[in-house]
Amino acid sequence: MGVIEEDVEEGRSLVDLHTHTHASDGLLAPAALVELASQRGLSVLGITDHDTVDGLPSARVEAERRGVTLVPGVELSTTGVGRELHILGYFVDDQDDVFVRHLCDFAAERRDRIARMVERLNAEGYPVDLERVWELASDGSVGRPHIARALLELGVVADIGDAFDRFLTRGRPVYVPRTPYPPENALALLLANGAVPVLAHPFSTGDVEHALRLLVPAGLRGMEVFYGAYDDTQRAKLEAMAAAWNLIPTGGSDYHGTGVREGRELGNSPVPLATVARLRAVAAELHR
Ligand code: AMP
Ligand code: ZN
Ligand code: FE
Ligand code: FE
Repeated sequence: MGVIEEDVEEGRSLVDLHTHTHASDGLLAPAALVELASQRGLSVLGITDHDTVDGLPSARVEAERRGVTLVPGVELSTTGVGRELHILGYFVDDQDDVFVRHLCDFAAERRDRIARMVERLNAEGYPVDLERVWELASDGSVGRPHIARALLELGVVADIGDAFDRFLTRGRPVYVPRTPYPPENALALLLANGAVPVLAHPFSTGDVEHALRLLVPAGLRGMEVFYGAYDDTQRAKLEAMAAAWNLIPTGGSDYHGTGVREGRELGNSPVPLATVARLRAVAAELHR
């Protein structure tokens, strides 16, 4: 029996459409992620780094070599109503200069925000070295997890979750909110690129129905249902909502590296192959 059949029997999915590499806050290089996906018997891998497509070229080369179908993606951070709201874009065109220029603006804003949070930590007496944070981000899309890793190295926190709870979550004095960026803008940006916009981890928005009333008329085409960290009850609720709103149900693990966060192991969340075909069909329609 081949790897693929064994994995199916173990209930692992062959399709994972939500993963991160070290182009943003994942731990693995894009090629290493593709290699791991191949070892785990995944046939389709979506890479969705935060606000960057820089990991896609090397992932594409490795995917070709290993016979894995790469779904090029991106995960845009937006500011919802008092909450973060993440929009995934599938079959993104990473050669689109206008789109890439917007991503450069997001990167600059991220660097500014992270520098200000490190300044606040320093002012509170925690000797986090900004240079070390840039190093941990390896010139990629920097984020709070990189500060968390620097705090962990210094022994200030017990783990990454502890860093978020004590310093990096909204409401903590160190926390710096990001410049408002409405989700409708992200949808327009993705649609202009030809990428299929999908709502990530919908329960993070607080009120899913409210989010959909805003986002569907603005062009949302899918929503995560098979999300690694969601249980069967949550999935059933989202599946019904996706059907009611005529949204493509998608999903994935939101893998950032092995053991980084519980419930987010690569390939742990089965996504039907038909989902990929449906996303591809909408992408083709958008590119026309
Ligand atoms: P940022 O992009 O700088 O706003 O940081 C958001 C990233 O931090 C997301 O990728 C999350 O996966 C990660 N994150 C948010 N909350 C936590 C947490 N409590 N523990 C670990 N990672 C988290
Ligand atoms: Zn992340
Ligand atoms: Fe997210
Ligand atoms: Fe994610």
